[in-house]
Amino acid sequence: MATTITVTGAGGQIGYALLFRIAAGDMLGPDEKVRLRLLEIPQGVKAAEGAALELEDGAFELLESVDVTDDAEVGFDGCNLALLVGARPRGPGMERGDLLAANAGIFGPQGAAIAARAASDVRVTVVGNPANTNALIASASADGVPADRFSALTRLDENRARAQLAATLETPVAAVRRVTIWGNHSATQFPDVSHATVYGRPVLDALAERVEDVQDWLEGTFIPRVAKRGAEIIEVRGSSSVASAANAAIEHTRDWVRGSTEWTSAAVVSHGEYGVPQGLMSSFPVRAVDGRWEIVEGLAVDDWARARIEASVAELIEERDAVRELGVL
Ligand code: NDP
Repeated sequence: MATTITVTGAGGQIGYALLFRIAAGDMLGPDEKVRLRLLEIPQGVKAAEGAALELEDGAFELLESVDVTDDAEVGFDGCNLALLVGARPRGPGMERGDLLAANAGIFGPQGAAIAARAASDVRVTVVGNPANTNALIASASADGVPADRFSALTRLDENRARAQLAATLETPVAAVRRVTIWGNHSATQFPDVSHATVYGRPVLDALAERVEDVQDWLEGTFIPRVAKRGAEIIEVRGSSSVASAANAAIEHTRDWVRGSTEWTSAAVVSHGEYGVPQGLMSSFPVRAVDGRWEIVEGLAVDDWARARIEASVAELIEERDAVRELGVL
């Protein structure tokens, strides 16, 4: 049986970087056949149709079918995995409330269509920003679908953090493990290295041999570099990150479905872990076990880290409350 995968915003940049890798087996492996559903708004349909033609020309042996639609009920019909990429970007002078309202108008109906039409094992990865709150909106609108079937991407932040550490420690990135992103996928996120290891040894010990003052380096160099990496890419490349975001979405979904032995980061629904209010979609250290994200519990969190986590969670609470005021939650 093939896996039916719905990609929204499939005519956009990230969609274009995602589709061919999914068709090539990078997400579900070389033995899993896939059916792609490309969901777009009417103005994006042509671009998605163009991608569909190219997918055909790729002659991907794992790809059973490609359908393009602007109807969410059709797009999510029988879907096992959904990658929600299409979102309303912040326009010039747009207030956060307007941005949240515009995205509620996208992710609310999509959540409802997922509840109505998706397969019973559906899992939904939210990429489109503000990703955590968009995941919350979609989940709240998906009656009957458990909240743990929704998660939002913070894997790109984690990958950026691991890569920065590897560069500083002059070590292969594969040696760097257990970096955690906490909170919101935004500038308030907290990339936490306090439990990270390099070749099994604490990263903090290895950093002490490389930088003069580890705490200064974390606060003044590392955290801002990771949190503002998106802006750095825009400045250098002239447009926002695309392939690295698609790569992170593939890694996130692959781990979720196929399991992860090592921990990673994902925004998942809180049950109150680490003091994060229940129901928020916040990033935590997680492992994927039997197709479910499990939050890694029991980690020591010092006062400095706690304050950082709380600041990012406060932003998530504000976003949730703004959406509540719109009557969406
Ligand atoms: P992209 O494909 O570049 O980005 C899509 C979304 O991913 C944006 O919300 C973007 O957020 C987000 N994103 C998350 N992480 C990253 C990251 N690290 N780097 C860059 N972006 C990130 O946008 P395009 O404009 O090229 O394409 C969007 C497509 O979505 C269009 O084709 C549009 O028609 C479609 N769309 C579809 C909808 C639907 O299916 N119902 C609804 C709305 C739009 P940010 O804005 O913060 O960069």
